[in-house]
Amino acid sequence: MGVLSGLKPEPVFHYFEEICGIPHTSHHEKALSDYCVRFAKERGYECTQDEMGNLIIIAEATPGYEEVPAVIIQGHLDMVGDKAEGCDIDMEKEGPRVYIDGDFIRADGTTLGGDNGIAVAYALALLDAKDGSIPHPRVEVVLTVCEEVGLLGASAMDFYPCRARRMINIDSEVEGVLTAGCAGGRRARCHIPVRRKPCSGVRCKLELTGLLGGHSGMEIDKGRSNAAALLGRFLMLLKESVPYSLVSFSAGVKENVIPKGGFAVILIAPGEEDALRKEIERFMDCMEAEYGSADPDIRLELTLGKAGAFPALDDDSRLRVLTALNLMPNGVQAMSMDLPGLVETSINLGVAELVDDELILRQSIRSSVSSAKEMVSKKVTLLAEQLGGRVDFQGDYPAWPFARNSRLRDLCVEIFAKQYGYEPKIELMHAGLECGILSGKLDGLDCISFGPNQFDIHTPNEHLSISSAVRVWEYLKAILAAK
Ligand SMILES: [Zn+2]
Repeated sequence: MGVLSGLKPEPVFHYFEEICGIPHTSHHEKALSDYCVRFAKERGYECTQDEMGNLIIIAEATPGYEEVPAVIIQGHLDMVGDKAEGCDIDMEKEGPRVYIDGDFIRADGTTLGGDNGIAVAYALALLDAKDGSIPHPRVEVVLTVCEEVGLLGASAMDFYPCRARRMINIDSEVEGVLTAGCAGGRRARCHIPVRRKPCSGVRCKLELTGLLGGHSGMEIDKGRSNAAALLGRFLMLLKESVPYSLVSFSAGVKENVIPKGGFAVILIAPGEEDALRKEIERFMDCMEAEYGSADPDIRLELTLGKAGAFPALDDDSRLRVLTALNLMPNGVQAMSMDLPGLVETSINLGVAELVDDELILRQSIRSSVSSAKEMVSKKVTLLAEQLGGRVDFQGDYPAWPFARNSRLRDLCVEIFAKQYGYEPKIELMHAGLECGILSGKLDGLDCISFGPNQFDIHTPNEHLSISSAVRVWEYLKAILAAK
C-alpha cells in the first residue's frame, strides 16, 4: 500500500508515488526514463528514447477524435535535489519520501519533485487509460531530462516523431494562471582589466548586508536593491568627499540571484575616519528614502583595520571599476506592452568581483523579445569594450514569444471559464520554459503552460496541493476532450 493510495483519481497519485520512488535529480534521470519506456512498451505505445533519456511516447486518437489536431503533452523528468540541514537522504540514490499533510503532498527533508513529477504522473495516467475512458486526439507525450540545469534535454532533443503543432506544457505552478510566453536569456561574463600599485593608508572594510535579494527572473521587478550596484554607488559618491584607494570588492554569488550583500576594502588617510562615517550615515539616509519599503533592512557597516601598505588599484583602474558598477545596465529594462505589469526585458548584475588584475562581472540577461535581449547584450559589450575589457556570453536559450493570436490559448480560456466559473489570468513568465526551445524547433507551434498549485519549489519545503492537482487533471482532460 502506497502512502498516497487513498487519493483519487487513483492513477494520477499512483504514478506520482511511483515516480517519487525512483531517484531522478538532474543528470540522474535514466532510471525514471527507463521506467517510462517499460510502461509505454507494456501498453503497446510507440516510444522513442534518446541517449540522454529524453522521451517521446505517442498515443493515437481515441475513436471519434481522429480528425482533431494532435497535441503534445510536455513536462520534464528531472527534479532539483535540495535537502534540509541534517537530512541523510542521498538523492542520487533515493527518491523523495512522500507524506500527506492536510491538502498537501510533501517530502520528508527534501524537495518533492512535484516540479515536474506531476506532469509525468498526468501523462502516465492519461496513457494508462487504454479503455477509451479519457477521450483525446493523437497525443504526443514529450518528457525531457536536465530541464533544471539549463533546459539541456529539450535543447539537444530531436522531435522528428512529433506531428503536433499544439502543445500543453505542464510546468507552471499557479492554478488559474495560463502562461502564454516566457523570456529567453543568456549569461554574460565581463572582464575589465585593472592595474595595482602599492598604496598605504588605514584599511577600512565596508560591508553591505540585509538586502532581500531574490531570483533574477521572478523578483527583478520588486524594486529591491542590488548589493553590487549599491556598493559601487557608495564608492562613486565617496570619491567626492573622502580620498581613498580601492583594494578589494566582492558582491553576489550567482548570475541569476540578486546580490544580497557584499564588501569593499579601501584605504583612507589617517584622520579621515569621521568623514567616512559621516558619508556612510548620509548614504544610509538616502537608502531609507529610496528603498524604505521595498528593501527596508539595508545596512552599510564599517570595520576599521590597521594602517599599512596594500596593493590597491591605480586611479585609472578605480575609475573603470566605478564606471562599470554604476553604468552597466541593471534591473528591469522594459515592461510588456501586451500584458501590462509583466517584465519584458531585464538584466541582473549577479556577481561583481575584483581579482588580481581584473574586475569580473557576471550577469543574467532575460527578455521575451529576442531583439531586446540582443540590444542589452550589445550595451554590455559596448561598455566593457570602452573600459578596455571584453565579454563572454554563454547559456543562450530562446524566448517563447507571446502570440497575439493563439487558438489553443482561446480554447484553454474557454474551458477554464466553464470549469471554474471565472476567467484565468494570462501571464508571461520572466524565466525560461521549455516552450521556448520547442517553439524554436517545431514551426508554428501553438503553446500554453499551466499546472497545479505548488509552493516553495526547489526547496525542502516544496509542497503540492492535492485538491489543485485534482482540478487541473479534470481541466487537462476537458481540453483533450474538446473537438
Ligand atoms: Zn519545472
